Amino acid sequence: MVHLNNNLRLKELMKQLSDARDTFLGYPVSKDFDYSALQDFFKYPINNLGDPYEDSTYRVQTHEMEREVIDFFADLFRADPQDYWGYVTNGGSESNLYGLYIAREMYPKAMVYFSESTHYSVKKNIHLLNIPSIVIRSQENGEIDYEDFENTLQFNRDKPAIVLSTFGSTMKEAKDDVSRLKGILKKLAIQDHYIHCDAALSGSYGSFIEPRIPFDFRDGADSISISGHKFIGSPIPSGVIITKRSLKDRISKGISYIGSSDTTITGSRNGHSALFLWYAIQKLGKAGLKKRYLKSLETTLYCKEALIKEGIPAWSNPGAITVVFPRVNEKIKRKWQLATEEELTHIICMPNVTKDQIDAFVGDVKSCRRSEEKQTICT
Ligand SMILES: *Cc1c(COP(=O)(O)O)cnc(C)c1O
Repeated sequence: MVHLNNNLRLKELMKQLSDARDTFLGYPVSKDFDYSALQDFFKYPINNLGDPYEDSTYRVQTHEMEREVIDFFADLFRADPQDYWGYVTNGGSESNLYGLYIAREMYPKAMVYFSESTHYSVKKNIHLLNIPSIVIRSQENGEIDYEDFENTLQFNRDKPAIVLSTFGSTMKEAKDDVSRLKGILKKLAIQDHYIHCDAALSGSYGSFIEPRIPFDFRDGADSISISGHKFIGSPIPSGVIITKRSLKDRISKGISYIGSSDTTITGSRNGHSALFLWYAIQKLGKAGLKKRYLKSLETTLYCKEALIKEGIPAWSNPGAITVVFPRVNEKIKRKWQLATEEELTHIICMPNVTKDQIDAFVGDVKSCRRSEEKQTICT
């Protein structure tokens, strides 16, 4: 009986997950993936323990695929072909922790600068690493306030600077201009500096945005993080960190037990994630990723116009796939799983979001307004 009961519970859970997936507009997670070809790999205890560039004694691993994932993103982010390194992480947060970790090891006496729009994981990471930090004001659109950055930096010119720039902020998908931040560091002659770019959300399509918004290695970044389960999509959360090999070498320590260098944050690492990401980029290629982005951009425009037509002041940052507008009532917010922050909410037009879903959402907003006019409460 217990057995039957459990089957029933799994069925219910499946339905619950499927329903939730289909009314989901507020979080940056793609749901249009198909990894069924990889099903049989769940029979193996894959573990990417250790540095992906070194052979470990544990051989049930996907290091080769992992390195190809790193190659792909290093190329996309215009890293020096002779000087890059990285690994597949458990998510953007771990990638950010790694970037900050290298930065702190390079400049133990540094100050970290990050804007008000920075993701909460960064604050926690800074706390874990115990680095002093200063919050810089954000502009109305969510982008860092360059003037406040310059003034604040000026006061601390005697200290090395670690700058945490955001490429695609959580609420408004604002993007800090890495070249501009680098220019300010140069202008103030702060030679000891490190720029980590948190591109968890927008890194996967950042290279296709026109006009270009500077964020990559050639623009001045020393490390870049992305999330694998956001724009690309994966059943398991994952992330990528890309940095310079020369920087990573400063912090690696050899561990004889696994026969590899302990260069990663966690010991055991998810080898299935690396395989999924590899599969996705093999299928898509750069051209496929770009196509995905352009589709999202078109949906964004459609969504923005549909809301504006209803008199809702919707807007989006240049090149962004996030539409920002004043918060909606609780019922609609819950149904469409919308995140809200200070009177604002957003729809993130991930590649799987359809115009039909946008129409259904706008329809809900419309009918709710009608019932509000009739003085009935629509929550
Ligand atoms: C999602 C996100 C993160 C955290 O990434 P996880 O993959 O959820 O750990 C960090 N920064 C930004 C800007 C994000 O959008």
